[in-house]
Amino acid sequence: MTSAQTGTSLPGLPADGRRRSLRVIPRREAVDLPAAERAVTALLVALGKDPTDEHLSGTPDRVARAYADLLTPRAFDLTTFPNDEGYDELVLARDIPVQSLCEHHLLPFHGVAHVGYLPGDRILGLSKLARIVEQFSRDLQVQERLTQQVADRLQQDLTPKGVGVVIEAEHLCMSLRGVRATGSRTVTSALHGALREDARSRQEFFALTGISRA
Ligand code: ZN
Repeated sequence: MTSAQTGTSLPGLPADGRRRSLRVIPRREAVDLPAAERAVTALLVALGKDPTDEHLSGTPDRVARAYADLLTPRAFDLTTFPNDEGYDELVLARDIPVQSLCEHHLLPFHGVAHVGYLPGDRILGLSKLARIVEQFSRDLQVQERLTQQVADRLQQDLTPKGVGVVIEAEHLCMSLRGVRATGSRTVTSALHGALREDARSRQEFFALTGISRA
């Protein structure tokens, strides 16, 4: 039997001092807003637009701030708890929103992530799964790397028996131009431990995510 959980905490999470917190602080160069603004002005000129036009005069500032917002991850505490109940079934958070920027076109891609793990000695607050996804999303990304980074981070910080991450996303660089494949979604996955090695666990994971492959 497997239980899929979304957005709720596991029963029996101890509220005592045995929680363990790991401050996750992103190491990233801060965005240079004035330089980004100048670059957007130059881009407007290169695109044949007049940056002094009254409708465009605030654009460099807005664009620079929008990119800074999309590219600045927030620090958070990855809080884990002892797995006192010996819970050994899959824990899955489904449909975590994903918004990121494609590093090839600087255009957004967005969709959902399904993140699961088979607990070992410790479990973690489910909201943290979404925070891990968000942290790696706020970067120039490719979907494959984003998927792998989320799986690696969980494996590294929680050392569960298995980790599975699936991301389904629509890339604006695909849907707005080129092949114009509107609505087409790219699916990527990354697996560690039992979810990678054990066919039954893997099938169970993909079945719960609603992805029809194993
Ligand atoms: Zn792209």
